[in-house]
Amino acid sequence: MDKAGGQSGLAVEGGPRVVERELCCVRCGYSLRGLPVEGKCPECGGEVRRSLMGDLLIFADAAYVKRLRMGAILAEAGIVLVLCVIYGGLAAVVAFATAGSSPWRGIEAVIGMVVSAGALGFGFLSLGGWMLLSTPDPASLMDQGVTARRVVRWSVIATAGAWFVATAVGAVSLAGGGGGPAVAPMVVSVMRWMGFLGLAGVVAQLLGASAYMQHMARRVRCEALGKAARSLRVLTIATAAVGCVAWAMAAGSVFPAAAVPLIAAYGCFAVMAGKYASVVDLARREIGLAARVAEGVGESEEVNR
Ligand SMILES: [Zn+2]
Repeated sequence: MDKAGGQSGLAVEGGPRVVERELCCVRCGYSLRGLPVEGKCPECGGEVRRSLMGDLLIFADAAYVKRLRMGAILAEAGIVLVLCVIYGGLAAVVAFATAGSSPWRGIEAVIGMVVSAGALGFGFLSLGGWMLLSTPDPASLMDQGVTARRVVRWSVIATAGAWFVATAVGAVSLAGGGGGPAVAPMVVSVMRWMGFLGLAGVVAQLLGASAYMQHMARRVRCEALGKAARSLRVLTIATAAVGCVAWAMAAGSVFPAAAVPLIAAYGCFAVMAGKYASVVDLARREIGLAARVAEGVGESEEVNR
């Protein structure tokens, strides 16, 4: 009847004629227990045998996998933007520092604006991307990565929200004639805390994303994705630790000494961002492949109907 059924060994003679265990329809989540294996889901009309194929992404609902793919594309756009800001900013700093008598005050403002625009862009692309990428599987009982999904969702909301507030407060105070040395201390403090909350959100996002991607690696049968996700977790923890040390030392104004951990934190951050990009890129490619296969399976199902 369909090729995939034969390959997965479900059409074995003497196999169960009805679904004897708890099984959710991959398309709508309806319980298929007690229904004939060769039958169709009474709720959505999907084939029961497709739900029996386990939680590999290629057998998941095609519309769901498509949503994941769209999410991965947006999330990757966000991280590419961050990499452009990191390396572009570094290049700009080096260029102006070596140019001799540079107008530092103007440059600082420009860099600040580019960084906050980049951060905000990253925040919103990550928000859209990870909300789609962490869409609950309609076959909800099969959904193993629930906690990781929730961590990712709440952290992208926190980051985008915090950085949006910080940027809005900064823009309003700038428009209100602030901006000079006499920026209200409250504005500075709100911006600092919101920036910090956004960073904490990024750490939570990366930890949640690495756990979720390890789960996804199993569903797309890609060991490289699982490995990359594990090293992303290690790098995230290391970057957060080094960043905290650098922040504490810089806050204590032990400046010449703080330069070393600050540079180390920047280095860790750049490596971590690169690893994050490779995880999202790999996920985007694997999910894209699964989406094409799932769509093909869906089409053959339509023909059979
Ligand atoms: Zn169904």
